[in-house]
Formats: sequence, structure tokens, C-alpha cells
Amino acid sequence: MSPRRKPTVDLIIPVYNEAGVITQMHARFRAVVDALPYSVSFIYVDDGSSDATEAELNQIASADKRARIIPLSRNFGHQAALTAGLDASTADMIVSLDADGQHPPEMIPQMLDLIAQGYDIVQGQRAEDAELGRFKKWTSSLFYRVLNFISGTRVLPGAADFRAMSRRAADALKAMPEYHRFLRGMVSWIGFKTAILPYHQQERSAGVSKYSFGKMFRLAMDAIFSFSLAPLYIGLSFGGIFFFLALAEMLYALSFWLTGKTDQLAPGWSSLMFMLLIIGGLVMILLGFIGVYVGYIFQEVKRRPVYIIKETPNHD
Ligand code: UDP
Ligand code: MG
Repeated sequence: MSPRRKPTVDLIIPVYNEAGVITQMHARFRAVVDALPYSVSFIYVDDGSSDATEAELNQIASADKRARIIPLSRNFGHQAALTAGLDASTADMIVSLDADGQHPPEMIPQMLDLIAQGYDIVQGQRAEDAELGRFKKWTSSLFYRVLNFISGTRVLPGAADFRAMSRRAADALKAMPEYHRFLRGMVSWIGFKTAILPYHQQERSAGVSKYSFGKMFRLAMDAIFSFSLAPLYIGLSFGGIFFFLALAEMLYALSFWLTGKTDQLAPGWSSLMFMLLIIGGLVMILLGFIGVYVGYIFQEVKRRPVYIIKETPNHD
């Protein structure tokens, strides 16, 4: 065989306010990838950091020519930052992982081996023993159970945005332009031969989690409303049930009229109020569901970009 060029690998690393973390992590990434028989580049997506992250990244990039920075114009969120990295990547293989050391970079060689063996996706799955708060553990397991119950796309419990992909899997993912992005679900949706690799989540090397409760909640909403129509069917089923209840009630009342016992019909104010409130409540909840879908449709039809790049990095 003629001398082939080395296969290329891009590491996609979303970074949001990780000053004091990112420099040491870059050294750890290097130690791992330097031993690989691939030509590796680092794509750092600066997701609108407001601390010294930008300066640290610039320093990394000037010392290591394999590092590229994609600065976003503001904080667009983890999923958008990953998308920006994916869009910028042209490598044969892609690995995405967090900047905080919770996704052990030491597993990258194993992931890439599996891709080289013909897997298109190697999905990292957080092992059960992870050092998570009780609240996060509980909400995460509940979330995956609900999501898998109501959506046709199976998402692995504990799946993380720690994964390796072949070029064709990455291209398939890039062809999905939706605004509300839940990459774990999208990756499962595109199919392809997938390997699952459990990993032990480590402590953050420094700094604090950038996933506030609000951000987690929004991610959960994106996952549920963009992967499932189940909430709309809830409305349909409740509507059906109440229709039949009303029919039964009508027949019941009619029986009093037919047998001439109308005087026995109690003035039932409380049961009436009860039904009124229940139905009113349900109608409002279901209108709310429809409202959310309409809102999502509105945002999708606007076709806004998922992220905006602040400046194009100078290529050297
Ligand atoms: N991150 C990001 N934008 C955000 C929030 C987080 O790019 O709006 C990055 C963050 O720097 C880290 C990764 O996404 O590299 C995961 O975030 P974090 O560790 O805070 O989440 P957790 O591990 O607590 O779920
Ligand atoms: Mg983390």
C-alpha cells in the first residue's frame, strides 16, 4: 500500500467559564493523544465565557498549534457549543468530551479503537457509582425513564455527551438542523452501529458545574417535547374519557325522566363544581402542552442559527 496519511481525529471540547481547569486539562488531553497513531486536533468551543477562559485558551492555542478556538458571541449552552464544534470539524473521527475532567480522556484510545473496528458511534455511559448528588441521580433516572416511556427513540440512561463518532455518523448528525437540540437523543435517532462504553465519572478537576437547575430543566424540556408527541395524546385520551363519562351521566339523568322520578334528582352543586374544576384544570394543562409545541414550532420555523461565532479564528 502507498504511504497513507494518518487518520485525523478532532476532540470537541465545549468550554464555559473553566479558567483554572482548562490549562491542566489540555496537558492531560495531550498526554493521552500524543501516544495515538492519529493526527489529533483540539477544537475548543468557548461558549461565551466571562472569566479568564478566553485568555487561557489563547495561550493554549499559541503554544500548541493543534488547538483551535471557536469563540461564540454569547453563552448559547452546552448542546449549541457541541454543535458548533461538530460543524467546524472535518476529521475522520470525532470525540466530544467535557472540559472539566469528568469524562476521563484516558478512555479516548479505547473509543477510537472501536471506531477503527467499524463502529460508527461509541457512546459513553456514566456508570451507576458516579459521584453525583442524590438529587441529580434521582432526577436523571426519572428523566430517562419518562423519556423512554413516551418517546420512540431509546436514550440510554446515563448517556453522556462523551462519545466518539465516525465521519459518516457526524455528517448524519450535522444534517439535523433543529434548534432545540438534545444530542443524546439525536445520536440515538440517526442509528448506525453503536457501542456502549461505561465510564466512571470522576470529580470535576476544579470549578463548579455550569449546569444550573434552569439549564437542566430546559434540556429536559427540549428532550421531551422534541422527541415525543405523547403529551398531545394525553389530551386526546382525557378528552375521550370525559366524553364517555358525559354520555353515561346523560343516560343516567335520562333514566330519571323516563321513570318519572325527576323529583329525586338532587341539586348536586358540589359534584358539579368538582367536575367543573377537574375538567377546567385538565383543559388548561393540555392547552399548556399544545402551547409548548406551538412555541417549539415557532422557534423552528424561524430557522435561527443554533449559535453565532464571535470571530473567525485566524488559521495559521
Ligand atoms: N458548558 C458549556 N456551556 C454551558 C454549560 C456548560 O459549554 O452553558 C460546558 C462546560 O464547560 C463543560 C461541559 O459543558 O465542559 C459540561 O458542563 P458541566 O460540567 O458544568 O455540567 P455537569 O457535568 O455538571 O452536568
Ligand atoms: Mg461536568
